[in-house]
Amino acid sequence: MSSQSHELPWLDQPLAHALRTRRAHALLVHGAQGVGQFELALALAQAWLCDAPDSPEVKARACGVCANCKLVQARSHPDLLVLLPEALRESMGWASEAIDDAGEKASKAKPSKDIKVEAVRGVVAFAQTSSARGRGKVVVVHPAERMNAVAANTLLKTLEEPPGDARFVLSSAAPDALLPTIRSRCQALALAVPDGGEALAWLRGKGVERAEVLLRATGGQPLEALDWAGQGVEARLWDELPRLVARGDGAALANWPLPRLVDALQKLCHDLHCRAAGAQPRYFTQLPQASDGALPALSAWAKALALAARQAEHPWHAALMTESLLQQGQAALAAAGAARTAPASTAEPVDSLNSGP
Ligand SMILES: [Zn+2]
Repeated sequence: MSSQSHELPWLDQPLAHALRTRRAHALLVHGAQGVGQFELALALAQAWLCDAPDSPEVKARACGVCANCKLVQARSHPDLLVLLPEALRESMGWASEAIDDAGEKASKAKPSKDIKVEAVRGVVAFAQTSSARGRGKVVVVHPAERMNAVAANTLLKTLEEPPGDARFVLSSAAPDALLPTIRSRCQALALAVPDGGEALAWLRGKGVERAEVLLRATGGQPLEALDWAGQGVEARLWDELPRLVARGDGAALANWPLPRLVDALQKLCHDLHCRAAGAQPRYFTQLPQASDGALPALSAWAKALALAARQAEHPWHAALMTESLLQQGQAALAAAGAARTAPASTAEPVDSLNSGP
C-alpha cells in the first residue's frame, strides 16, 4: 500500500483544505476503509514536518524534496511515530517500526490486530520528548478503533494535555467505535469517497481491468478495489457472483477469506433489497429479478449475514462456514424468487472462472 499522498490524486484537495483549516493538535480523519485516511494522515504529518516555508498563506502539501520529507518517505523520521497493530505493520510496509518497549515484542506469537496498551505507552513517552529536527513531533494512529478501552484511556490524557509540540492524527473507518472522550478531543476531518472518474482513472493507471466493476463492488473505494484486483478478484467473477450463489456453485469463491465472502453476500442481499423495493442497486449490475414479495426472505437473510459478519473474523471452521453461507444464500435467493428468474448471463462459463490465489 502506498504512503505517498501525491499518488492518490483525490487526496490533494482534502489535504490542502485540512492544512488550511485544521489547527487542532489532534485530528481524527475518518471515512470508508479503502479511501485513504491513513495516506491522508501521513501526508498531513509530512506536511507538518516539511522544511518548506508556509507560504503564501499555508502550504497545500509537503514539498517532497527536503531532508524532512525524505526521512518521512524513508519511514525513518525521528519525529514521526506511526502506531499500527502488529498484524498491519508488515502488510503495510512498516515492519521496521520498533516502538514497543524492549521485551514487549511478541515475536513468535500471532501478530495482534489490536493496538496494545504497551504500544500506546510508547506513544506517550515519544510525545513527551523534544523534537529531534525542530519541527515538532507527529503521531499517527491507525486504525484508531483498534485501541481497546485501556489503550484508548492511556492515550486520552496525552490528547487532553498535549506535551509541547506534539500533534496527533487518528485515522479511523469506524469513528463510532472510538471512546466518545477520544472523539471529543479531536478535530474531525471527514474523508469522502472520491469522485468516480478520478478513482477510475487512477485504477486504470494501475492496470486494473474493468476497473468500473471493482470500484462499484467496493462502494467506490479505490484502494480496496486495487487490493481486490491484486488478490485475483476479477470483474468477471463479481459479475457472475449472483448467479453462482443462486446455483449454489461456490467453487470459484472457496478460496475467499470469510470476511470478504460475507461482505459480498451482504452486498448482494442489499442490492436484491433495492431491486425488490424498486430502487437502484449499488454494487452489482447483473442482478436477478426480485419482487416485493421477496422482502421477508431477504430480511431474514440480511439478519443471518449480520450474525455471520460478527463471527467471520474468528470462525470455528472456515470451510464449513463458507459452505453454509452459500447454502443460506442459495436458499434465500430461491425463496426470493430470484433463482428462477435469473437472466441468462453473457459472461463466460462458470467453470472457467477462478478466484485466484
Ligand atoms: Zn519537505
